[in-house]
Amino acid sequence: MEKEKIDFDELEDAQFQIEKGAFQPKTLTCAQCGLKAKKSQLEIAIGNDVSVRADGFECEKCGKQYLGLEEAKKLDRAMIVSRILRNDFKMERAISHDGDNWTMRIPKEFSSGVQKKKAEIMPLGAKQFCVSIE
Ligand SMILES: [Zn+2]
Repeated sequence: MEKEKIDFDELEDAQFQIEKGAFQPKTLTCAQCGLKAKKSQLEIAIGNDVSVRADGFECEKCGKQYLGLEEAKKLDRAMIVSRILRNDFKMERAISHDGDNWTMRIPKEFSSGVQKKKAEIMPLGAKQFCVSIE
């Protein structure tokens, strides 16, 4: 299957409509035809070599594809990771060594509203990781 590149700034034009009413809808009606769309596993390209499989719906008449909110959130996260790996967006911060560990300051744009003072680190590669703070 030929993979198509999605421009992150043009997400409104993506062919997937996100169903606002339901988190994980069991059935879905095509907004275009008014017919019941059938459940379908959609393969969504989010980069040159990356594609994500999501459970969605497809209208048998017009072919329009839909995603529930839960699946759309998964897709969002995958897109963020893909963007990081392609270095489209990055911030540089100095790291310092205290004898045992390397430490880094978290930019305040990301740390407002931090309550638990806990960070979750998800490895992406030998020298790459993704940090989520709560
Ligand atoms: Zn349709």
